[in-house]
Amino acid sequence: MTERYDDQNIFAKILRGEIPSKTVLETEHSLAFHDISEQAPVHVLVIPKGRYISYDHFALSASEAEIVDYTRAIGEVCKMMGVQPGEGGGFRMISNAGEAGIQEVPHLHVHILGGRRLGRMLPRAD
Ligand code: AMP
Repeated sequence: MTERYDDQNIFAKILRGEIPSKTVLETEHSLAFHDISEQAPVHVLVIPKGRYISYDHFALSASEAEIVDYTRAIGEVCKMMGVQPGEGGGFRMISNAGEAGIQEVPHLHVHILGGRRLGRMLPRAD
């Protein structure tokens, strides 16, 4: 991890209560809230409360308690939002990282998208 965590990023401000968010779930180590610019009927972001920039950073540096809490929070959000697979349901989880991954907010977040057929995973060219 060469990048430094930026305490002024927008999700750090949400965690400090400096700007509002529409909370879906809060646990000891995680927070889930609706994306401000939803791209599907269900579009929830799940973030750890710790200062982690990206998924690889979190996976290599977080405590086991944080990892378990975050993973379970993601599962819980899928359940709460009714996007579990089965009977035509399902979801996509995306976590963009870094410049090539086109990550806008440098605090780890997983997008949970669902509520409609989501199309191909990636456009064919960029
Ligand atoms: P990414 O490109 O993966 O870094 O995605 C960042 C996401 O954060 C985008 O989908 C934005 O719509 C979303 N976002 C930015 N600001 C806010 C905010 N204040 N509350 C909720 N979602 C936000």
